[in-house]
Formats: sequence, structure tokens, C-alpha cells
Amino acid sequence: MKVLVLNAGSSSLKYQLIETDDEKVLVKGGIERIGIEGSNLTQKSEKGEYKVEKPLADHTESFDLLIGCLTSPAFGGVLKDISEIDAIGHRVLHTGTDFKGSVLVTDGNLAILEKNIPLGPLHMPANIACIKSCMKVLPGVPNVAVFDTAFHTTMPDKAAMYAIPYEDYERYKIKRYGFHGTSHKFVSEEAVGYLRSKGLPWDKIVTCHLGNGSSITAVKDGKCVDTSMGMTPLEGVPMGTRSGDIDASVVEMLCDRKGMTPAEVTQYLNKKSGFLGVSGVSSDSRNVLAEAEKGNYRARLALDMFTYRVKKYIGAYAAAMGGLDCIVLTGGIGENSAPLRKDILEGLEFLGVVVDAERNEKCPRGRIFELNTDGSRVKILVIPTNEELVIARETRDIVKKA
Ligand code: AMP
Repeated sequence: MKVLVLNAGSSSLKYQLIETDDEKVLVKGGIERIGIEGSNLTQKSEKGEYKVEKPLADHTESFDLLIGCLTSPAFGGVLKDISEIDAIGHRVLHTGTDFKGSVLVTDGNLAILEKNIPLGPLHMPANIACIKSCMKVLPGVPNVAVFDTAFHTTMPDKAAMYAIPYEDYERYKIKRYGFHGTSHKFVSEEAVGYLRSKGLPWDKIVTCHLGNGSSITAVKDGKCVDTSMGMTPLEGVPMGTRSGDIDASVVEMLCDRKGMTPAEVTQYLNKKSGFLGVSGVSSDSRNVLAEAEKGNYRARLALDMFTYRVKKYIGAYAAAMGGLDCIVLTGGIGENSAPLRKDILEGLEFLGVVVDAERNEKCPRGRIFELNTDGSRVKILVIPTNEELVIARETRDIVKKA
């Protein structure tokens, strides 16, 4: 089955065309700067790499261009006709409290997605616009919504609720939803498969998705029981530009002292904080690390705050699950940054976590790799994430069932 996977951000649209029979990526592309000057599409297939620069007002125009490029030999398109697309899988931000897993898009489900726009005002309109474009341009081709929050719907209430008056949860659905669900699902399933194949315990895993956005998840018996992001992706560990956990009273103080509105403070905590705000250097951990190595105190502090808080979440989740069998590291930092992995993992020996310094330094890219010493009770696995593949697999399964 040929599945087109669409991942729409507020001003971007990433896509892959995947043949699910052999899980081969036929085309990989992305559109940037939608609705902003300089919009462009890049597309890569076995025929080469191509770039189109064209003003694109919105996601509907962007989707029309994408479809044109998939079928155009001049841009490396591999389809003779769009009718070769069997199904479309959409990364959708929010289940709200309505869905527990991926769903076939129907008129009824689309109305529920629209109702949930307030839970993701930046992403949900883009997700919905893409779904509507697909329904128009490819009528009869099934669309499946695969949610970023779905993997976390198994969290028990004691982990998912905020301790605010209960009526406001009922009225406004204010609770912890968690994000990066497709990534945590993918790497935790890969870890379970790996550990089981070696006859090792696999029921208590902490998955750390560490990238520009970062989140940590406790996975017990294959199910999420807690995760670090909350009602929005702001909660949890410090990130590229997000503060992570913070005392909510800081919001009022910033409004009073700096004359900011609450919306401006939300923007400040999401876009100007984290690595960028603390270091004053960059949101990219590589740039911050390079400065820290030159002796820049604020750059070192930004990284130390990050690794310290990831370590605290790992300890907290071991306590929540009553033990720990495996730590998984994934995302741009988790897969690639040996110095940050070292700072996170060292000092957890009391939990049975013993990292092998040489394996950490020499960790190869693109495959599952153990960082632990042979004697370490807890396995430490680097697992490359693949969110698009999860979306393609879920889409195939839902369409086959339907
Ligand atoms: P992501 O959001 O998953 O793309 O991850 C972005 C983060 O990963 C940034 O902080 C990058 O500095 C970091 N990163 C990506 N590639 C590398 C690499 N090869 N070595 C070290 N850090 C990397």
C-alpha cells in the first residue's frame, strides 16, 4: 500500500510517500515558510533532489503544489498519477478527550477535530486544512488521523490531572495530554522487541525524546503511565526555546514587572527561554556546547539545567514504575550528542544504570545501539526515531480494518 504521510506545522508541511509492504520511503519532502515570503518546497527521491520556490498563501495551496511535484518527473516525482496513492496518514496534534488512538477521518470525526482547535490553536487549523485539501483533491482516498497525544491516553488520572478545581477540568478539559506520542510509541516498541529477543526484562522503560523539543515518558508493560509534557508542549524539561516546568506565579510577575500580557508571557516561555534564553547563544545544543567548551558560564548552565532535569525525570519515573529495566534515548540530541548523554546518564549507578564511556563516544548512527556496560543491570539503548513510519503503519492498519 502506498501511504502519503503529511505532517503539517503552523507554517510548514513535511511529507513522505511510503510503500508499506517493504516500508520503503519513495519520496521525502518539505514545504517551508507557508504564508511567509520565501516559501519553497524541497523533494528527494531516487531520481534526485529538487527545489521549487513559489509564493504559497496557505496549506491548501501548499498541498496542491506537493501533489503536482509527486507526479512530476521534472521534480523527481515517482507517481504516474495521483490515483496510485492508496491512503493518507495525517499527523494531528490533539486527541482532546475524544479519541484513544488513530481514527479514519469521517465528517463526524472532522467536526470533533474542529471542536478541539482551542487545544492546539497553532497546529490544529493546519492539520484540518490539509485533511480538507486531501478530501477535495483525492476524493475516495481514505484519510487517517494519527495523534501526537494518543500514546499518552493510557496515563492514569493521578498522573494526567492538574490539582486545580475539578470543575475546570470538566468545563475546559484542562489536563496533561503529553506530546511526541508517535516517537515514544515507536522507540518503546522497538525497545520491547529488542529486549524480548534477548530474554531480558522489558516492562519498565523510560523513553527520552531529546531534540529541539524534549519529553520523557514512563512506559510500563508497553503503555504510557506518565510523560513530562502537559496540556501543551511547554511543560517538562528545558528545551531549545521552551522553559519547561516553571512556577505559574512567574507569569503574573512578568506581567507586572515587564508590562507583558499573559499571551506575551506564553510566547516568551515558548520561544525565548530554554537553551536560547539561559545561554543567550542559541537554541541549538551544538552551538551552546561549543560555547560552553570555551568557558561560557551561561552556556554551561543551560546544558547543566537540561541534563540535570532529564536525570531527575528518569529517577522520578523509575520511582513511579517501581523499578527500571531500560532507558531509551532518541531525537537529535539523544541520537547524536555523546557529551549530553554522558551528563544525563552518569550518577544513576544507584539505579543499576552504568554507561560505557567508549560505547557512548562511538555510538553509530541509524541503528539500535547499547550504551551500557556488560554488567549494567539496566539497558541503555539509543534508538533512531521514525514518526513517519508509525503514521504509515497506523494508516495501513486502520484502512485495512475499515
Ligand atoms: P531534533 O529536534 O530532533 O531535530 O533535534 C535538534 C537538536 O539535536 C539540536 O539541539 C541539535 O543541536 C541536536 N543535534 C542534531 N544533530 C546533532 C549532531 N549530529 N550532534 C549533536 N547534536 C545534534
